[in-house]
Amino acid sequence: MSGFDGRWDWTRRRLLTGAAALGAAGVTLGSALAQEEDERPKRNKPAAPKPKPKAAPAGEHPGLPARGNYVIRNAFVMSMEKGIGDVADGHVHVRNGEIVAVGAKVDVPGANVIDGRGMIVLPGFVETHWHMWNSLLRGMSGERPDYGYFRTTAQLGKEFTPDDIYKGTRLATVEAINSGITFVHDWAHNIRSPDFARADLRALKEAGIRGRFSYGPMQGHDLGQTIDLADLEKLKKDWAQYSNGGLLTLGMAWRGHGGNQPSNAVPEAIWRLEFDAAQRLGLPISVHSSGSKAAVGQIAGLDKAGMLKNAQVIHAVYATPDEIKAMKAAGSTISVAPTSELRIGFGMPPVSAFLEADIPVGLSVDTVELVGNADMFAIMKTVQGIENGRAENEYKISARRVLELATIEGARSMGIDDKVGSLAPGKRADLIMVNTKVANLGVFGHPAVMMVTAAQPANVDTVMVDGRILKRGGKLTHLNVERIAQEANDANAALRKRAKWW
Ligand SMILES: [Zn+2]
Repeated sequence: MSGFDGRWDWTRRRLLTGAAALGAAGVTLGSALAQEEDERPKRNKPAAPKPKPKAAPAGEHPGLPARGNYVIRNAFVMSMEKGIGDVADGHVHVRNGEIVAVGAKVDVPGANVIDGRGMIVLPGFVETHWHMWNSLLRGMSGERPDYGYFRTTAQLGKEFTPDDIYKGTRLATVEAINSGITFVHDWAHNIRSPDFARADLRALKEAGIRGRFSYGPMQGHDLGQTIDLADLEKLKKDWAQYSNGGLLTLGMAWRGHGGNQPSNAVPEAIWRLEFDAAQRLGLPISVHSSGSKAAVGQIAGLDKAGMLKNAQVIHAVYATPDEIKAMKAAGSTISVAPTSELRIGFGMPPVSAFLEADIPVGLSVDTVELVGNADMFAIMKTVQGIENGRAENEYKISARRVLELATIEGARSMGIDDKVGSLAPGKRADLIMVNTKVANLGVFGHPAVMMVTAAQPANVDTVMVDGRILKRGGKLTHLNVERIAQEANDANAALRKRAKWW
């Protein structure tokens, strides 16, 4: 039924109600409605006080859905938690944002029941590195060097306004929630002034998603200048007003000694200042390193400078065995972005080598400007394909292991596995329900294989972040997808016009 038909029906029902109350035949539509509207003041009853909107707890965005008391019943639950495992015909009880119970039978009188029949319930996906602002440039990495990823990002990035950042990141949050990603690592590398950081954070806050916001440089940042360390310090001091009640944390998107091209080399005096500031402020550091062959040896350079300690290293496609050992010894974690590494021609991340070295590994989107979409199912499938293909072994990495990378292992790599990444009592309720009653999931085989090889974002029926339902029945609950996409499109058109881009 279209929206217009729905409105007509509603009006007609009101008319019939109004006519019955009047007991008069032949009233016109207008007079019946007028009468109905007029009835209220004529009744000699004091008007009921309007319920006051419940104020959001301090620091939380007021427009988010309320947390509730829910029990998901009769679902296939993949807890990704050792000791709980998979529970066929399982139940999950969530109250006020926390997982209270997971099991075969959970008795919760009074809770709102969510029917889980035909659904697979999983922890929400943990995304570990994403330049969310440039979702405004989706699909704009062209197929000639003039319009390649780095040039497009740099040229158009310089034309961004804070509002463009807001609309780009907002589009990214909508896509994340839609596809079952409940945690994002927003690697913000186009902060052109303090307003840009705030605009980005506003989009994250409004979405109600969990994440780390990593404060970085701007496109075209002077290599001889640090990022805005004074603003970073201010943000850290005022963080309570940005954290959305603790859903968002702050980190540093560090250029390190340079990006993936030697021409981006940052002088030592600068990278030392940035590194020291992050240490002083207690902020986790994330750095792109050895993504391309042109940047081989960067990880060894970071190790030599003592800067791998607890750092997140992104890509690491060309990490040598010694560098892998160094990352393990330093407590580093790794974020791989296989769909972007393949698309741009960096190569294939040696995920199995990282896992064999016992380094926490997370999966990432990187940028939809390059990879097109934020589809964790596709990323998982790509990881398994790369590992099995390179090893010429159908069994090199299991779907279950890959699913761990997208959930609990990814959470470990971001240092949040005590809160999320698996479904267990006491953890925060970040979970998704995948509808298997669809064409591409029509036979219930091995559930992990189904999730890694067959499922798609469109199958994500329900998404909960911190106990708030952000997607239900395949639709986002509090964000208007159509409007957000349209506004991003308008902003993209205006940006291209300003930049005289194609
Ligand atoms: Zn990146």
